[in-house]
Formats: sequence, structure tokens, C-alpha cells
Amino acid sequence: MTSQRTRDRMIVRLREKGINDEAVLAAMREVPRHLFVEEAIASRAYEDTALPIGFEQTISQPYVVARMIAALRCGEPLGKVLEVGTGCGYQAAVLAVVAREVFSMERIAALLEKARANLRPLRLANLRLAHGDGAKGLPEAAPFDAIILAAAAPRIPRALLEQLAPGGRLVAPVGSDDQELVLVEHKKEGFVETRLDAVRFVPLRGGKQ
Ligand code: SAH
Repeated sequence: MTSQRTRDRMIVRLREKGINDEAVLAAMREVPRHLFVEEAIASRAYEDTALPIGFEQTISQPYVVARMIAALRCGEPLGKVLEVGTGCGYQAAVLAVVAREVFSMERIAALLEKARANLRPLRLANLRLAHGDGAKGLPEAAPFDAIILAAAAPRIPRALLEQLAPGGRLVAPVGSDDQELVLVEHKKEGFVETRLDAVRFVPLRGGKQ
């Protein structure tokens, strides 16, 4: 139930739902999602649903991970990426397969340790994890070619827009009760927003824990 065949079936379902970015599909075919959830629910790891990872947080639904990374790529290779909300580390792993360099931030220290342990066997040398409030970004590693938020905020934190390189893209769930996935492109004329789908994410919270 955690085999390559199960993972292949997940890829078929993602295609049926409209994901056609081959790089994203190949990365999700490669990263073993079952290693990122508790053993008791590992058999459900390839269903297209969010699952609990402890600390009242969830691992994002595969379709949403695929949709967000495809929107971030827009068919082009990804350079330096910042992810806000490491959680169990699954999306960070997929990003590390498709991007040159990935920084991922998590505010809950215990969850970050869990992610570290989950990620260790994959030996992703281009992925770095940081403990901190992702709403403030990671100024020491900025600017980023792409920024992706795995938690929803009523509005996109200013610090993150400031750390987005010219030509860069940011994808985030925006809203509190009703949320939508928003793509922000840093163009010459300014930040251009496109609304994508209705989504449901855990909230972006302030401070470290
Ligand atoms: N990327 C994960 C999803 C994690 S859920 C995956 O692959 O499934 C969202 C995560 O964002 C939670 O772990 C939550 O603790 C974290 N989070 C919320 N607010 C944050 C903030 N301000 N800075 C960093 N992480 C935050």
C-alpha cells in the first residue's frame, strides 16, 4: 500500500484532475509521501486528502501541493525558493527535487525536528530548514525567485513581497474563513495578482513555538 505502484496511481489521479507539469509529476512520483505521516495512517498516504501530522497541523493534499508548485514554476525551472510552513517536510522534499535551492521555515520547533527526521533518508543536499516566523521571511537568504506559503493569512505579509526577486513568483492561500490560492508575480510595473482556486489551509500564526 506504500509501493511505487500506489504512488503511480496517485500520479494518474493528479493528471485526471488537470495537473500537467511533468517535472512536478515526476518529483511527486519520486518522493515517498508515506514516510511523512505516522505509520498508523501510512496506508492512506497516497489518497488525495490532507492528513494529520500532529500539533493540530496537516500534510497538504497531493493535488494542492502539485497545483501550487506548478503555479510557482509556470513551466520554468525554479531557482532559489522559500517555503513558509515546513510541517512534516513533504512539500519541501518535492520542491527540493524541482528547484535549485530550497529554504523551508517552520515556527513549531518540535514539528521541524520531525520534518528533519522524515527528510534525512532522502539526502536532499539543496534543502535547508530554519526555525522561525515565516511571515518575516528569511532576510539572510533573500531575495528568492519563488516563495510558497503552506498556511493562510488574511493578506500576504509585506516582508515576503520585499524578499521576492524581480521576475519572481509567490503562491499563497489568502483569507481566513473563505480562502483562495493567489499567485503574485513581481513584474516591472509592480506586484500582479492572479486568483487561482478556493482552498482550505491552516492559519499562518505569528511567533515561534
Ligand atoms: N508544507 C506542509 C504543510 C504544513 S501545514 C506539507 O508538506 O504538508 C502548515 C504549516 O505551517 C504548519 O506546520 C504550521 O505550524 C506552519 N506555520 C504556520 N504559521 C507559520 C509561520 N508564521 N511561520 C512558519 N511556519 C508556520
